[in-house]
Amino acid sequence: MTQTILITGGGRGIGAACAHLAARQGYQVCIGYRSDDEAASNLVRAIGDAGGTALAIRADVADEQEVERLFAEVDARCGPLDALVNNAGVLARQMRVDEMDAARIRRILDTNVVGAFLCAREAVRRMSTRHGGRGGAIVNVSSRAAVLGSAGEYVDYAASKAALDTLTIGLAKEVAGEGIRVNGVRPGLIHTTMHADGGESGRVARLQSSVPMGRGGEPEEVARAVLWLLSDQASYTTGSFIEVSGGR
Ligand code: NAP
Repeated sequence: MTQTILITGGGRGIGAACAHLAARQGYQVCIGYRSDDEAASNLVRAIGDAGGTALAIRADVADEQEVERLFAEVDARCGPLDALVNNAGVLARQMRVDEMDAARIRRILDTNVVGAFLCAREAVRRMSTRHGGRGGAIVNVSSRAAVLGSAGEYVDYAASKAALDTLTIGLAKEVAGEGIRVNGVRPGLIHTTMHADGGESGRVARLQSSVPMGRGGEPEEVARAVLWLLSDQASYTTGSFIEVSGGR
C-alpha cells in the first residue's frame, strides 16, 4: 500500500531534500509551504519527472485555521496520513538577546513551536489508534542550536528548537501505545538559503572550521536520517534524536 507523507516547509532546502527522497522511496508526497509558489511547483514537477507522486499545498503553519485546512486537503487529495515531517522553521537577523523585541520572538515561536504543535496535533488525530487511525510516525526537524544556544546570533531560534525537542520527548511518550513514533533530528550547519535570512549567506563557510568533520552538511544528508526514523527500520525508536552535524 502506498504511504502518504506530509512535509511542512517542503518547498525548499532540507524539506525539499526529504520530499525527493520520500518520493524515491515510494511515498505519495504532500509538500506544505508558506509563500514560494515557484519553488514548490518546480519541486512537484521534478518529483513527477523522476517518476514520483507529489502535490504542494500553500499554508502558514503558524495559523491554526491554515493548518486545519492543510490537513483537510491532505485527507481529501491523498487519503490517510502515515508520516509527518515537522520541518517548517524560521530564524531572524542575527542579534543579541538585549536587542530583541517581543514581535520578533513571537514570530519565531509561532512558526517553530506553535506551528509544530498544531501539525503534530492534527497528525495524531488522524494516525492514533485511539482515534481509529492505523498508526504512523512523526519526525521533528530541530537543530544543534537547541543544545549550543546560538549566542550572539539567534538565541530565540535556539530556544524554539529546544521547545521542539521537549515536544518530541513528551509526545513520543503520550502516543507510544497508540501506534505512533515521534523522533527528532538535529542538523548542524547545512547548506541552504536559511542562513541568508539571518543576514549572513556565507555563515556555513565562516563556521565550517569549527565542525570536527571540517565541512557543512548537505540537505540530502539530513533527509536520509529523517527517512530512516520514519521507516520500519526504526520500529523500536521513539523519543530519540539523531545529530546530523558532522560532530559539532
Ligand atoms: P529554508 O531553506 O529557509 O526553507 C524553509 C522552508 O520552510 C520553506 O519551504 C518555507 O516556505 C517554509 N516555511 C517557513 N515558514 C513557514 C510557515 N510559517 N509555514 C509554512 N512553511 C513555512 O530552511 P532549511 O534550512 O531547509 O531549514 C529547514 C528546517 O531545518 C528548519 O526547521 C530549520 O530550523 C532546520 N535547520 C536548518 C539548518 C541549516 O543549517 N539550514 C540547521 C539546523 C536546523 P517557502 O518556501 O514558501 O518560503
